[in-house]
Amino acid sequence: MARLGSWIKAEGEGIYVVPADAWIDPSQPKARAWVTHGHADHARGGHGAVLATPETLAIMETRYGPQSGQPIAYDETIRVGEVDVRFVPAGHVLGSAQIVMEHRGERIVVSGDYKRRPDPTCACFVPVPCDVFVTEATFGLPVFRHPDTGSEIDRLLHRLHSDPSRCVLVGAYALGKAQRIITELRARGHHDPIYFHGAIERLNQLYQGFGVELGELRHTSSATKQEMAGHVVIAPPGALNDRWSRRLPDPVTAMASGWMRIRQRARQRNVELPLIISDHADWDELTMTIRELEPTEVWITHGREEALKHWCMTHQIKACELNLVGYEDEDD
Ligand SMILES: [Zn+2]
Ligand SMILES: [Zn+2]
Repeated sequence: MARLGSWIKAEGEGIYVVPADAWIDPSQPKARAWVTHGHADHARGGHGAVLATPETLAIMETRYGPQSGQPIAYDETIRVGEVDVRFVPAGHVLGSAQIVMEHRGERIVVSGDYKRRPDPTCACFVPVPCDVFVTEATFGLPVFRHPDTGSEIDRLLHRLHSDPSRCVLVGAYALGKAQRIITELRARGHHDPIYFHGAIERLNQLYQGFGVELGELRHTSSATKQEMAGHVVIAPPGALNDRWSRRLPDPVTAMASGWMRIRQRARQRNVELPLIISDHADWDELTMTIRELEPTEVWITHGREEALKHWCMTHQIKACELNLVGYEDEDD
């Protein structure tokens, strides 16, 4: 009997699905690419044909221009070569998907990036029991336990209201995190205009185009310091300490990321208000998911693989790490 999942090759440049002649999230241009979601470390430009959800294709077009893409809706099954393939929600960002593949009676699920807690900007993760679960492990250490999102947002609002002469500048990745922070603020009753850095404008519009309500947003470039006092400003992390921020009224610098659990990371970016809000599963979510799916094998990608591998082994699940290049923690 062949080794489980022997029809998949996890190579340096991505996961190659042999009987479909297709690559999942390849880091180099390929004739046929299946893309889990729009973050730059998973979705690259230059592929021949791209299979992805309509939202992910739209994100790729925003970033790379027109794609020869084939949209696949959640839960639709198509056959490619000798593989039945289906995309199901991963709960990571708008349009993010796990890729479920069946071939000769074996089912393999590639999670892409995922999280389990609710996110108002995207569909919730759908657990699909499988023989092999290929999981990310960005926060694959027991130290990473993300707190309740609502309480982190409340800390942000408390800080904002404590000094109306200042603004709170939140560093958040342009794709996903920025829009999630905005919708979480709305869900906590914050309906004031929110100011944004120009770099996130197109993705805000794309989310709104897919029906995600963001409320009243204003571009910082058309606002005065006085107007922005007492308001939230959202910018990509790279803008937190650059010249651009001088136009803001005495900003309290915040950053929304799972890495804010690590004090040193907050200090590196001169972050005064670290907010532990992540789009990735934390340790408990990773282990809960593996328990729930009951796979025979777990293959672990980008992150701290060692601890999760050990956890699997102590739970009688065979586990190995895949050495794929090019996955960064840019999208945490
Ligand atoms: Zn991602
Ligand atoms: Zn990733």
